[in-house]
Amino acid sequence: MRKEFCGVFGIWNHPEAANLAYLGLYALQHRGQETAGICSTDGDRLYHYADQGLVQEVFTRSTLSGLKGNAAIGHVRYSTTGSSASRNTQPLMANYWGGSLALAHNGNLTNAAELKKRLERKGAIFQTAMDSEILLHLIARSEENDFLEALKDALRQIRGAYSFLILRPGQMIAAKDPRGFRPLCVGRLGESYVVASESCAFDIIGAQLVRELEAGEMAIIGPEGIRSEFPIQPRIEPSFCIFEHIYFARPDSVIAGRSVYEMRKRLGRQLAIEHPAVADMVVPVPDSSNPAALGYSQQTGIPFEIGLIRSHYVGRTFIEPRQSIRDFGAKIKYNPLQQLLVGKRLVVVDDSIVRGTTAQKIVKMLRAAGAVEIHYRLSCPPWKNPCYYGIDTPLREELLASSRDLEAMRAYIAADSLQFLSIEGLERVFDNQGGFCMACFSGDYPGGRPRNHFKEILEARAVRVAAKP
Ligand code: SF4
Repeated sequence: MRKEFCGVFGIWNHPEAANLAYLGLYALQHRGQETAGICSTDGDRLYHYADQGLVQEVFTRSTLSGLKGNAAIGHVRYSTTGSSASRNTQPLMANYWGGSLALAHNGNLTNAAELKKRLERKGAIFQTAMDSEILLHLIARSEENDFLEALKDALRQIRGAYSFLILRPGQMIAAKDPRGFRPLCVGRLGESYVVASESCAFDIIGAQLVRELEAGEMAIIGPEGIRSEFPIQPRIEPSFCIFEHIYFARPDSVIAGRSVYEMRKRLGRQLAIEHPAVADMVVPVPDSSNPAALGYSQQTGIPFEIGLIRSHYVGRTFIEPRQSIRDFGAKIKYNPLQQLLVGKRLVVVDDSIVRGTTAQKIVKMLRAAGAVEIHYRLSCPPWKNPCYYGIDTPLREELLASSRDLEAMRAYIAADSLQFLSIEGLERVFDNQGGFCMACFSGDYPGGRPRNHFKEILEARAVRVAAKP
């Protein structure tokens, strides 16, 4: 399965800032399970704690009490670029000519390799393997004398996907890339401002969602309130990641005014219109496919049943970084409900196939449990192309759909039939309004396919190292 990615949370002007950041990160845990960190400020200095592990493992009452002040930013991470070593935790901290700052980043910079090379040639020494560190070096080396001008200067040099949160004594800044690949929203909690990757992080602390940050927006939050600038002009067509809606975001989040849960149900309805099947029940691959399966069931009238029980003590299978753990995770993650399935024809609704190994195991499990027909349905189009914008997909050749036609994919997972939602159907569900990135399906990368990608260079290095006898 694919791997992701990161979640960010920030709060300004609250006496319990670090504790609320902890809760916000807890709600964003699905966006990254390898590292967690919080940086706070009391207006004079920054306080920081980060480590490898889940939010609840990383922080204790004692570490949280050391994070003083009324503002904080936090981060949960899966390694999209850079390894999962403990030095690669965020928020990143730095001292520069203007003082100290902390940075939390969700996304991938597509020109990171060339920027890093240029900076290293000028003497920069990188402390981590994360592309996010590039922004710190660009700020520190800017010829602008004012921090915000230096930040804008840095933002104009980077390309790709970013939703940044930056904390300095006296200021919190949220910035989104000009195409707005990753989500970032603003909320209010009384007199406090909150910023998070997803609105589900507001619900847990009782904050109200105000709005999604616009593509290219830089929101500056301080004692005087909030104001926005758009440092990169002219503004370009947004390309929000459609996969946030299909799979990544939590169904209880609202993104750009759309309920993730409702959109997933609509995807299931559209899938049923395009690819009906004669069957006894609709079974979701839990949990992320539940709403799409419900939509499929409602459209067709075929009963919805929880035929696969998911163990909630196992993380998402893609989260673990090593293949051996991932395979193990897939086997222990689902258990078919045998009494329900014996002799039944199933429509199995899933939200994506990446390598196909999980789908193959699910089909095998369901047949072993007594299902007589399995019609596999996907609430997204075939995933043929890697992502360069913050979703750590496998290399192109590892993607099931990159080199196989529909029949070859069906044979690989050993289902009776296999069908995917069409790209046109996907667009229809989102009212043909445009403004989305769908490159992993279409190969149409916003602004062109990135070259010399940082991740590929890192991977190539890793392959070379691994290939040594
Ligand atoms: S390539 Fe796919 S996963 Fe990556 S940003 Fe675009 S839609 Fe999202």
